[in-house]
Amino acid sequence: MWSTMQDVPLTITSILRFGTGTFGTREVVTWTADGPRRRTFAEVGERAARLANALRALGVDGDQRVGTFMWNNAEHLEAYLAIPSMGAVLHTLNIRLSADQLAYIAGHAEDRVVLVDASLVPLLATVLPDMETVRHVVVVGDADTAPLEGAGKDLHSYEDLLAAASPDFDWPELDERQAAAMCYTSGTTGNPKGVAYSHRSSYLHSMSAATGNAFGLSASDRVMPVVPMFHANAWGLPYAALLAGASLVMPDRFLQAAPLVELIETERPTVAGAVPTIWADLLRHVREHGGDLSSLRLVPCGGSAVPESLLRGFDELGVRIVQAWGMTETSPVATVAHPPVGVTGDEAVRYRISQGRVLAGLEVRIVGDGDRVIPNDGTSVGEVEIRGPWITGAYVKAEDAGRFHDGWLRTGDVGTLDPDGYLVLTDRAKDVIKSGGEWISSVELENRLMAHPDVVEAAVVGVPDDRWQERPLASVVLREGATTTAADLRGFLGEHVPHWQLPERWTFIGEVPKTSVGKFDKKVLRRRYADGALP
Ligand code: ADP
Repeated sequence: MWSTMQDVPLTITSILRFGTGTFGTREVVTWTADGPRRRTFAEVGERAARLANALRALGVDGDQRVGTFMWNNAEHLEAYLAIPSMGAVLHTLNIRLSADQLAYIAGHAEDRVVLVDASLVPLLATVLPDMETVRHVVVVGDADTAPLEGAGKDLHSYEDLLAAASPDFDWPELDERQAAAMCYTSGTTGNPKGVAYSHRSSYLHSMSAATGNAFGLSASDRVMPVVPMFHANAWGLPYAALLAGASLVMPDRFLQAAPLVELIETERPTVAGAVPTIWADLLRHVREHGGDLSSLRLVPCGGSAVPESLLRGFDELGVRIVQAWGMTETSPVATVAHPPVGVTGDEAVRYRISQGRVLAGLEVRIVGDGDRVIPNDGTSVGEVEIRGPWITGAYVKAEDAGRFHDGWLRTGDVGTLDPDGYLVLTDRAKDVIKSGGEWISSVELENRLMAHPDVVEAAVVGVPDDRWQERPLASVVLREGATTTAADLRGFLGEHVPHWQLPERWTFIGEVPKTSVGKFDKKVLRRRYADGALP
């Protein structure tokens, strides 16, 4: 029997209509050098309609890709709403990628128009001549556009375009399966690969992120995505906030600890998401200089494993970190680590430092040698595979088809799943250290090291070893003035970790190199070691 239900497509357009209509009085606050700048969701909705008209006048009349080269701010939110809702495809460019990668990605996606923040004009200017498919550049805010002029593109002012455009746009009926937005993986191996999110996947992911087993968003929240809107769509927080009627607090380019604390104290967000390195900086800052983070009821954290020391440090401030796991390919939120009901204290921490349970609608499994599915017993280790309505089933242009297996995505992450559905990642497949036929988890060594009071950051990579094939090399950043030695740290690790896993190679460095999205860049550490730049 066929259902009697209405077949209404799940689209960004409906997020736009609902969020800017029903919750039109909610606001988006953008931080600037002079303090906060405010705009209501209703104003954002009207400006999104103007933007759609302006883009149509620039020739965006189908599924052309419109790139954004922007920080988290109100205008980026307008682009998030207008571009997919007009039937085009939003392509968030990661401003921190190399010029080569940016040119590659913009060409691969065939971006036609790029919107750029005034503060990023000099950076875009270095790569724009190589963005061959781009015809128009729209500059948001006041900027000296002279650096862009030699690139042979038509230049426009965002505000001039919006002022000249009608505030009414006849949003088209869209197929929920068509592409709404696209992102590229940050290319830790090989060229970045494209993922195209559908309207339906974005809608379902946003609904799911707002549910209680994820971030539990409602109209009483003020959501601050510190995670960039160019990094996996700021984990879906902007769309989820519109669906929940939660106001948004946008840090723009002010991502250092001091301005973030000021922003939190001034605008009092209740939920704020960022990668562990950002929260670690903030924790150090608050410990040294003070700061009131009491408005935060929940801090979603992910992108790399959340060290236990970070989670406990925030607990001491009365701020609850919740770990989430996902990837560009999973929209990105896939699992969230809330402890089971009734479990508290240290026992709860054990669950909170896991990657958590999968969100409703998704399935995960662990696969071992020969693609055999292995038991969810909490101890059998293998590669994590995942499937569901907001997991990509392919890469753009069908690249790297080997990452898909029987309708599941091979995540490249390695870990265990327990009978209650808690996922524990021990490593990324390419970061696992293979020593004499046994595996050493680089993540576990890092987390143990970062629990030492003198250790600010620690990254562990496998380096070639004649006898054992690979052995761990620990690169450690010590607190200023600390005199802790490698022998001390080996002793400290030895309290928790089997002796054969303890690194014999140590190096003390000023900072761990980071990727474009703020993760430890282990590729750089391995290269430095191979080049003899590390002991
Ligand atoms: P890239 O793959 O280029 O780093 P992504 O941002 O898509 O770009 O990264 C996804 C990867 O980040 C995951 O496959 C996983 O290895 C890692 N990751 C994300 N969240 C977590 C987490 N909570 N714990 C451990 N690793 C994580």
